[in-house]
Amino acid sequence: MNPRQLEQYFDHFFKDVFIRFAQIGEVYAMVVSENDNNHLNGNVYVKFKDPDLAEQAVVLLNQEWFGGRPVHCELSPVSNFSDADCRAYETNTCTRGDKCNFMHVRRPTAELKRQLFKSQDKTILLQKLQKLTGDDQYGLQIRKGGVDAKLFIPEPVPIAISQQDPLPNEEPVDPTNDTNISSTAAVERLFAR
Ligand SMILES: [Zn+2]
Repeated sequence: MNPRQLEQYFDHFFKDVFIRFAQIGEVYAMVVSENDNNHLNGNVYVKFKDPDLAEQAVVLLNQEWFGGRPVHCELSPVSNFSDADCRAYETNTCTRGDKCNFMHVRRPTAELKRQLFKSQDKTILLQKLQKLTGDDQYGLQIRKGGVDAKLFIPEPVPIAISQQDPLPNEEPVDPTNDTNISSTAAVERLFAR
């Protein structure tokens, strides 16, 4: 595979994985490592805007397959990817080789990344409007008329929110729901060395 083919292949991979995660919720960041060792090479790290979605993603994706292989997914305590980034690799000067336990990040083409995050913004806005109006077809009507799928925001409509329906940010706290990330051991092992 020449460098150009490799770039295209990786862009396809990045796009497929990104879209799967974005179906679960808003992706804040996603990186793929290409370290020379088995425990980091090919790992995908995803940060959701809402940490609860990360827990959902672990449950869902551990039941799925990707490219004919079972997905293994776990929570990570690393909240800032740039802290785990190998600075030397960025400048092609990492001398630790397969012993390096910082992420050697492989990046998709800038245009693909921009498009993925941009399309996500549109989808999220549309979902919010659909939720607020209680109409899961809201904003989609224009597609039926054969016009291309640009985000269509119709005239504002009155929104009725009953007292029983808490706003998204005001959901009652469930005391039995422990949202603390607990499975830290694996990633601590990766970055402790
Ligand atoms: Zn390195």
